[in-house]
Amino acid sequence: MLAASRGAPPPPSRANVALVPDRKPVSTPASRSRYAWDDPVERIKGIGPRWAEELASRGVTTVADLLEHLPFRYEDRRRPRPLAEARVGEPLTAIGVVRSVATVRTRKRGLEIMTILLDDGTDALPVVFFNRGYLAEWIRAGVRMLVHGVPRKGRRPVELQGPEFELLREGDDPARVTGWMPVYEKLGPLTPRRLRAVIGEALSGLGEIPDVLPGEVLGRRGLVSAGAAYRAVHRPAAELPSEQLAERRAPAHRRLAYEEFFLLELGLAIRRARRRAERRKGGYQIEEALRRRMAELLPFSLTGAQKRVLKEIGDDLKAPWPMNRLLLGDVGSGKTVIAALTMLVAVDNGYQAALMAPTEILAHQHARSLQELLLPVDMKVELLTAGLPASAQEEARARIGSGRARIVVGTHSLISEKVAFESLGLTVIDEQQRFGVVQRADLVAKGRHPDVLVMSATPIPRTLAMVIYGDLDVSILDEKPPGRKPIRTVVRRADQRGRVFEGIARALGEGRQVYVVRPAVEEGGRGLKAAEDGLKEYRKLFPSARVEMVHGKMRPAARQENLDAFASGDVQILVATTVIEVGIDVAAASVIVVEDADRFGLAQLHQLRGRVGRGDLRSYCVLIASEDSGPEAIARLAVLEQTDDGFRVSEKDLELRGPGELAGTAQSGYPSFRVADLVRHQDLLLAAREDAFAFVERAGERGLTEALWREVRRRHGERLRLAEVG
Ligand code: ADP
Ligand code: MG
Repeated sequence: MLAASRGAPPPPSRANVALVPDRKPVSTPASRSRYAWDDPVERIKGIGPRWAEELASRGVTTVADLLEHLPFRYEDRRRPRPLAEARVGEPLTAIGVVRSVATVRTRKRGLEIMTILLDDGTDALPVVFFNRGYLAEWIRAGVRMLVHGVPRKGRRPVELQGPEFELLREGDDPARVTGWMPVYEKLGPLTPRRLRAVIGEALSGLGEIPDVLPGEVLGRRGLVSAGAAYRAVHRPAAELPSEQLAERRAPAHRRLAYEEFFLLELGLAIRRARRRAERRKGGYQIEEALRRRMAELLPFSLTGAQKRVLKEIGDDLKAPWPMNRLLLGDVGSGKTVIAALTMLVAVDNGYQAALMAPTEILAHQHARSLQELLLPVDMKVELLTAGLPASAQEEARARIGSGRARIVVGTHSLISEKVAFESLGLTVIDEQQRFGVVQRADLVAKGRHPDVLVMSATPIPRTLAMVIYGDLDVSILDEKPPGRKPIRTVVRRADQRGRVFEGIARALGEGRQVYVVRPAVEEGGRGLKAAEDGLKEYRKLFPSARVEMVHGKMRPAARQENLDAFASGDVQILVATTVIEVGIDVAAASVIVVEDADRFGLAQLHQLRGRVGRGDLRSYCVLIASEDSGPEAIARLAVLEQTDDGFRVSEKDLELRGPGELAGTAQSGYPSFRVADLVRHQDLLLAAREDAFAFVERAGERGLTEALWREVRRRHGERLRLAEVG
């Protein structure tokens, strides 16, 4: 084995270990394989103890871990061409012999310029390297090498500057360095070039690559084996069309993407199966309770969607296992009513019910609207948040513990160790994607197999729901209560702000109230600045209006004061950061202006837009693009002009920005995939989900092979809390 790494710059001798073998490559039938999948990464020729240590600190300890580091793109070296065909601006792969090497040092900037003349018999091309004098040790006259790069006009009409290159030894097969070449992200001490070498070495010496996927699934879905996939993904066959590689649609990519989805969905299926195995004592009296409560409570009749959802929830509550349901519905679709009725049914059946909201503002808002709804049945709503005075918190906790409080609303204060419920039977979690599975589990742990209803006003694409909430049953409120006026949405460029202000002035003149939203440039202190700048500006622009602000860094009491003043109509313009994104309900506000709107995701803007359109007035949403936004950003915003269907908006957002950017997914611990992509591989996700759930249904948790279990746990065990049981 070679010595461990030395200092920078990297001596190419190490990097080229496998690219320039000093002996003939060994052919490797399985019996003579040098490495096993689970071997320590240090086994691989070229990786010494020091690199192994550095790799370990990045979670790479085995050969398998190393091979899971996939190329992020491929270089097309499939068609080496005669040097005579080198053209400025056209990618070139060529093989030639070094005729001469000359190094000069510029006086002014101390730049070291090494120029070699590469000759392949058709022509000679100058190849230039800057500040890489150490290469001279390797690149000498007479050496045969491959170069890959884009020729340009330099000091000579056509030259190649700083190209990729490979040295070729006597008798070397050029096929080794041509074809599709993988390009890797640096991995600890392993530069992209070194990665190519050590991964190549590992693959050439590797015996069998174990396949965790059930063979039956592979066959039915037409997927290649793990072995074939890993070999091909690191070293694709030259015949593969470039789109397939660029779009990760090659058979190898598809197989690995499927595997990622399958392992996740297995974890989710197991979670679901475990909960289904939980039993609770006694069924709910549901029909009678619901009927009575609805009659007592509702001043309106339910929408068709609300009725359907209540039926789905009712069926859950009657089942001998706890409910685990996600309720998706646009802002204003009437989720709160559903939550209130469900909570009352739980209370009627002798349990406590708790609602957890992600922010202080939302918790207050929920407490208030629930209290309003529940007034006719004389039910008191208990509020518990960290913003309350300590003594009030203590009293609330005492009432929760004794069972005097039947309906509790709070922030994550509810999952504090200090909180004990007397008999928690239902947990409602609002705006779930702000909480992770873990917090959900923490609240659930306060009861004995309580029912769980997760509510989200962020419409998310079905595929994303399968990944984030895949262990839940899903109900959708896709119908708005009658009488809503549509919101007119318009997109404006930054240079049209003046016109927008005229519009605001007119709106104020008609007695309307206006939200102004500015993005917090980053989390933390900047939110304050964004809002404060806005406050100053709008006060100056509209001197006769009362302008106040709210933002996340404010004292809750001060914030509440401003919100109340806005709600009561004393304040005409409310400047806010996105703290108003969810849940704030002021029916009289009919205009929302979002500045630098392109800094937000579409789904988030859609949510913001939902702040208006709640009263009788026709409402407006004005999206002002930031100054540096291009036509693309404007086109993206225009999606909101075209549709008010939250699900369509979110599909578009997913397509344009990817799952990581969708509102709130980051906090929820969206699983990171190596290959799998919700948009590109949607068909694979659907297939993997179906297969995984069918598998667990049929064979149960015990039906998983040891290896499959290990993989599921390794990748998702922590996030899905799979270790806790079983
Ligand atoms: P969400 O929580 O989904 O944003 P809410 O439950 O807060 O929506 O409902 C928005 C408004 O619509 C509330 O004022 C509520 O009283 C009202 N509402 C809900 N359901 C109906 C219905 N079926 N008919 C008329 N109004 C309704
Ligand atoms: Mg609501």
